[in-house]
Amino acid sequence: MSGAEELDAQGLAAAFRAHLEHLGQFKGARYGSAAASPRAQALPTTQGGPSEAKHADESAVAKPAPVPSEAPPREDIGTLQRRVRREQAQQWPAAKKLEYLRTKVVGDCTRCPLSRSRTKLVFGVGNPDARIVFVGEAPGRDEDQQGEPFVGAAGQRLDQWIEAIGLRREDVYIANVLKCRPPGNRDPHPKEVATCSPFVHAQLRAIAPAVVVALGRFAGNLLVGGNAPMYRMRESVHRYRDPKNELELPVVVTYHPSYVLRREGESKSGRPDVGGDGKTEEQKVLDDLQRAKNLLRA
Ligand code: URA
Repeated sequence: MSGAEELDAQGLAAAFRAHLEHLGQFKGARYGSAAASPRAQALPTTQGGPSEAKHADESAVAKPAPVPSEAPPREDIGTLQRRVRREQAQQWPAAKKLEYLRTKVVGDCTRCPLSRSRTKLVFGVGNPDARIVFVGEAPGRDEDQQGEPFVGAAGQRLDQWIEAIGLRREDVYIANVLKCRPPGNRDPHPKEVATCSPFVHAQLRAIAPAVVVALGRFAGNLLVGGNAPMYRMRESVHRYRDPKNELELPVVVTYHPSYVLRREGESKSGRPDVGGDGKTEEQKVLDDLQRAKNLLRA
């Protein structure tokens, strides 16, 4: 039996069980006095005289079976099967959930116009059981070519940061808010974020990590909620609340590696600029990431 057939069989069995349960609510419910069963209605008595017959007829008229007032409304079989499948899927390991999301839900997505200009859809990469998930903004040129997030210059810097906190790229999971590259690496449009972000929320539900790191303003605003600027979001650890209310996680927001690379490129001294707090942008990122790492131990 294939996996899908097995699911169907299990769904049907559950539907049948629910149906029996529904019928079971009527167990012990009383019908009209002389009518032991609805069949009595169809069988007028043949014994006794007319008055007796009349009496028997009256008593044989079954009252409708009482419906227990607390009885839940019945689901139709299709709804029930979908619910059973959903509940079964919740028990799947994270890798299977991600695989299902990638192949059956995201698929060859054409939900927004970015699908027409992309080379490859960039779903996400890494350990499905990761305790820390990094969420970036959107694929760039290299990612669009290779179908993997953070493989270009920004990706190399991100890998260095991950190693600086004692982890490897294979230990973590990496995804983006958008799964397709905006032309020319422009900022994501709000409509694109609205269309695509259910996928990153679903990835987080599947993995259920201990902490999420949002790289840059777009990921920060999506996961924290609101429109706060980077410096505000970096000030504290936030709560990520999954829109389906199935998950709540700490989120640390930090600078996007492309921003750090850009700032370093703009420095006139040839060395990364130091801010008023005596730290370079990269040092601030490493502080943020260490804070995220510490949350794994908490
Ligand atoms: N920038 C991102 O936000 N994501 C990538 O995957 C690459 C660059």
